[in-house]
Amino acid sequence: MTTDFLISRPNPELLSIVIPFYNEEELVPLLRPELTAFLDKSPYRCEVIAVNDGSSDRTIELLVDWGRRDPRIKVISLSRNFGHQYASTAGIDHATGDAIVLIDADLQDPLEVIHQMVEQYRKGYDVVCGQRVTRSGEGIFKRASAWFFYRSMRFLFLKSLPPDVGDFRLMSGRCVESLKAMRELHRFLRGMVAWVGYPQTCVQYERRPRAAGKTKYPLRKMLRLAWTAAVSFSALPLRLSFAGGGIMALLALEETIRALVAHFSGRTVEGWTSLMVVLCLSNAVLMILVGILGEYVGRIYEECKGRPLYVIADTWNLDHPSGQQRIERSLADAGSR
Ligand code: UDP
Ligand code: MG
Repeated sequence: MTTDFLISRPNPELLSIVIPFYNEEELVPLLRPELTAFLDKSPYRCEVIAVNDGSSDRTIELLVDWGRRDPRIKVISLSRNFGHQYASTAGIDHATGDAIVLIDADLQDPLEVIHQMVEQYRKGYDVVCGQRVTRSGEGIFKRASAWFFYRSMRFLFLKSLPPDVGDFRLMSGRCVESLKAMRELHRFLRGMVAWVGYPQTCVQYERRPRAAGKTKYPLRKMLRLAWTAAVSFSALPLRLSFAGGGIMALLALEETIRALVAHFSGRTVEGWTSLMVVLCLSNAVLMILVGILGEYVGRIYEECKGRPLYVIADTWNLDHPSGQQRIERSLADAGSR
């Protein structure tokens, strides 16, 4: 970790806790009492930005009910499921605290760790990541793939990415400002925060099993995130494909020499097998190269459309006109019933 010059600072005046929710109706009733107790006891003022990422169950109803009873809970509802990285971005964009904590809804990351993070923030660190020492309740496959993912990412693409660190982290105001300026469409927040820099440190904690419900990160989504992480931080896949092309060229040279030797020694009919092998191999490699190139070109295309990263359908308890109108409307509805 960086050993920068640290300037100590007081507790944040307002701490924003950003939580994305996707089909977590079983979790909200468990999270609500725990988080309320945390907020009531906290020595610093807190706000919660709960982002509903297009859930198709009762998550939004439960969040709105919570928000109506507790003004500290600010709710943003996205127009559809955009994905964890985008829901977190929406929350970060609307947080007003001078420090922000990003945490999952599933209570895998204990809330008490936030106090340890704030302690490090007071020492002067701008980013305090939660580093998992154990991952109880997660299968061998999830653990092995996570182990491999973090090590290979650090080795190949982003050396400053801390290992075994998810999105659970505290970020200072100035780090968040820099992060907000990064509007790239293909987002890997952990890597983006590592890229921003500033003094960063980790606090270690034991990751608990999910409090309820199933993981919203099946293998397909994990692989997609890993691919985004790989291609949005370096052009290494392109360079690797160049190396692949080089190897193929060497093979082709060897085959050319063999073909010439065969030709001059009068044995030209033979060699069908090697011809087929080289043809198939070179075609396959070409396809892969074009595929990787296409992946980058596609990303450039998507990026230059300049679309917003997410679309907000509604907000509650936020200083946002649509949110305010919405609250007034819902209060009027409740009164007339
Ligand atoms: N999540 C989300 N949108 C998605 C997938 C997940 O907002 O498309 C949220 C989810 O509700 C949870 C957090 O992201 O609060 C992390 O997801 P999960 O706990 O399923 O991931 P895991 O811990 O298994 O990696
Ligand atoms: Mg989880």
